[in-house]
Amino acid sequence: MASPTIKLNSGYEMPQVGFGLWKVDNAVCADTVYNAIKAGYRLFDGACDYGNEKECGEGVARAIKEGIVKREELFIVSKLWQTFHDEDKVEPITRKQLADWQIDYFDLFLIHFPAALEYVDPSVRYPPGWFYDGKSEVRWSKTTLQQTWGAMEKLVDAGLARSIGISNYQAQSVYDNLIYARIRPATLQIEHHPYLQQPDLVNLAQKEGITVTAYSSFGPTGFMEIEDFRVKHAAPLMESPVIKEIATKHKKTPAQVLLRWATQRGLAVIPKTSRSEVMAQNLDSVNFNLDDGDLTKIAEMDLNIRFNKPTNYFSADKLF
Ligand code: NAD
Repeated sequence: MASPTIKLNSGYEMPQVGFGLWKVDNAVCADTVYNAIKAGYRLFDGACDYGNEKECGEGVARAIKEGIVKREELFIVSKLWQTFHDEDKVEPITRKQLADWQIDYFDLFLIHFPAALEYVDPSVRYPPGWFYDGKSEVRWSKTTLQQTWGAMEKLVDAGLARSIGISNYQAQSVYDNLIYARIRPATLQIEHHPYLQQPDLVNLAQKEGITVTAYSSFGPTGFMEIEDFRVKHAAPLMESPVIKEIATKHKKTPAQVLLRWATQRGLAVIPKTSRSEVMAQNLDSVNFNLDDGDLTKIAEMDLNIRFNKPTNYFSADKLF
C-alpha cells in the first residue's frame, strides 16, 4: 500500500499520507519508524522539539540497511525550533538534526512556529523547549521571520533541504512571507480538523500554490496523550455521531473519514499511532470519496477550537 503524492511548488513529489512523530516515546521510536516503513509509510514528520530524531534516524537506517527502502524513496520532514531562529544558528542546528537522522538532506524543513525565542546552546539543553532556563522563563528573540526565512532559503542553496515551508502561520504572516520570499514556502502545516477548519487560511494557501498539511486530524485525541486539560470536555471526534454515521455509510472507520475529509480537499495528513493495524488503516484512507452531503455535515461541525496554542504550554504563573 502506498500513498498518492502531491507535487509541491518546489517541483518535488510529497506523499499525501505520512506519519507523525510527536509524542512517539524514545524507547519505541526506532521500532515504530521501522514498522511504519514496513507498513508502507514514506513520509515522516519529525521535529527537534519531539526529542526523538536520533531514534527516528535509527529506524530509518535499519530499514535502509535491510533493503526495505532507499533513502530517495523516503520523504523526511523536520522543523526549526524557535530558539534557533537567529540567522547564524539555522544552518548549524539543521546539520545537527540531519546528523541525528543519519541523512544529508531533509526533503522538507519547516519553521515550527512563527515566534523566535532566545538561543539556547544544544550543549546546555536539547531539545531546548519553550523556557530559557528549562523551567519557566520565556525569553523572546528580536530576530524577524524575514531574517529566519532568508536563512532557511540558504539551506536550500546549500543542499541541506530540498523544500522549505512554514507551520502554525496565520494568513497575515503567510502574506508577509510572500512579499519577501525568494523561495516560496512549499507547504503550510496547520492544526486542521472538523473543530478547527480555517477555510480562509486553507483557501489562501492553496490559491498561492502552497500545499497545506493538516496536523492533529483527530482533533482532541492527540492532545489527550499530553493530558492537556482543555481537551477533557471536548467530545472525541471519532465518537461524533456525524462522523460515525458517515463512516458506517462508507464502511470505513471514523479515523479514515477524518483523514479522507482532509485529503479529498487536497490537504496532506500526518496521523500518529504506534499500533501496526492502525498504521495500515490510516494509510489506507484515500480509496473512497465523501459525498457533498458528508462534506456539508462536516463543515457544520466547525467550532474554531484550537488545541495547539503556544500559550497552552505556559501556565499563567509562568507567563506573568
Ligand atoms: P493525531 O491527530 O494524529 O492523533 C493521534 C492519536 O490518535 C493517538 O492517540 C493515536 O493512538 C490515535 N489514533 C491514530 N490513528 C487512529 C485510528 N485509526 N483509530 C483510533 N485512534 C487512532 O495527533 P497528533 O500527534 O497531535 O498529530 C499528528 C502529527 O502532526 C504529530 O505526530 C506531529 O508530527 C504533527 N504535529 C505538528 C504540530 C506543529 O506544530 N507543526 C503540532 C502537532 C502535531
